[in-house]
Amino acid sequence: MIGMDGTIYIIAEHCGGKIRQITFELLSFAAQLQKKCSLPIEVLILGENVSGMAKEISEISGTNVTVLEIAGLTDYNGEVYRSVLTQFFKNFNSGFVCAGHTSQGTDFAPGLSIRMNAANITGVREIVDIEGELCFARSVYGGKRIAHVRPLTETVFLNVQPGVFKPLSSPSSSPSPSSSPGEVRLHEMKCLPEKSRFIKRKASIADTGALCEADVIVSAGNGIEDEENIGLVYDLAGFFSKSAVGGSRIVCDRGWLAYGQQVGITGATVSPKLYIACGISGAAQHLAGMSGAEFIVAVNKDSRAAVMNIADVCVIEDITTFIPLLIDTLNQGSSK
Ligand SMILES: Cc1cc2nc3c(=O)[nH]c(=O)nc-3n(C[C@H](O)[C@H](O)[C@H](O)COP(=O)(O)OP(=O)(O)OC[C@H]3O[C@@H](n4cnc5c(N)ncnc54)[C@H](O)[C@@H]3O)c2cc1C
Repeated sequence: MIGMDGTIYIIAEHCGGKIRQITFELLSFAAQLQKKCSLPIEVLILGENVSGMAKEISEISGTNVTVLEIAGLTDYNGEVYRSVLTQFFKNFNSGFVCAGHTSQGTDFAPGLSIRMNAANITGVREIVDIEGELCFARSVYGGKRIAHVRPLTETVFLNVQPGVFKPLSSPSSSPSPSSSPGEVRLHEMKCLPEKSRFIKRKASIADTGALCEADVIVSAGNGIEDEENIGLVYDLAGFFSKSAVGGSRIVCDRGWLAYGQQVGITGATVSPKLYIACGISGAAQHLAGMSGAEFIVAVNKDSRAAVMNIADVCVIEDITTFIPLLIDTLNQGSSK
């Protein structure tokens, strides 16, 4: 059982001088965790010249931030993170260390948790209370089942699934500075990588940034039938501010949308205010990425499609007739 004298640490994620959205999702996750265990929250940020970002986090969240200033660490390096955090945590023996279930978080957390003889639960999507025990939910079997995992160690590493916990606030949403900023403390640490070093950063063809930040996502599935009909989905998305177009894997495999627009277990996990699924059957691998949306509208000509089980509004229609009709109606509304 977790001791009550520990801390909930968040390892801030940043890249190219910018705080990544996952950091603010981790703050929201940690706030939920705090309600269960009443431990204080503290953010750690590692790197060279990261004090500016630390100040930003402390102002937005009101949380204390510790800077581990490492000369020469201009870009992420897992070896350095593991080494520095092992030193930092040498007297830490109960509490939580939260990182993103991202390429960075899943790179350093497992090795670090082994060094600290701690449990590491990855892909965390929910905090659950089972018979008074604190457990964490993660999806398994390609999103078909949810496993509840109970940590048995005093220190627990958690990799939190991006897109599941709504960020409290972040610079990319509307910044709402906390009334009293947290304290920023600085520790200088020396560590240079010996086994691997950063060469360069290249933009990924699967950049899911737009999807993760959208309030409204209109997604196209196999039912869109023809590449030409993708335009309908873009037209519909155009009626909403802060919107993005997503799709199922089939549509991305066909090249009708970019892989950065794929929603699902091998794409983005999203939690927009509104998700409109157009011609999407609702395979478990797709639902795993979007079932956290606040309101789901499914347009499908098959009333028995699995997506209908989680949709708030089910439109049993052919998308090629329904979407143009909806667009016309929205156009009439906006011209009044
Ligand atoms: C390891 C693994 C990982 C995967 N990862 C992902 C992932 O990340 N994301 C993902 O999406 N999939 C993923 N998949 C694929 C997934 O299993 C499904 O094959 C895929 O999601 C189905 O896409 P779809 O719903 O667009 O197509 P379909 O299952 O073919 O469904 C099309 C739907 O459109 C409806 N329809 C057809 N025509 C019309 C019309 N004119 N008007 C209205 N409705 C119509 C049909 O009734 C049907 O319900 C993965 C699979 C595996 C094995």
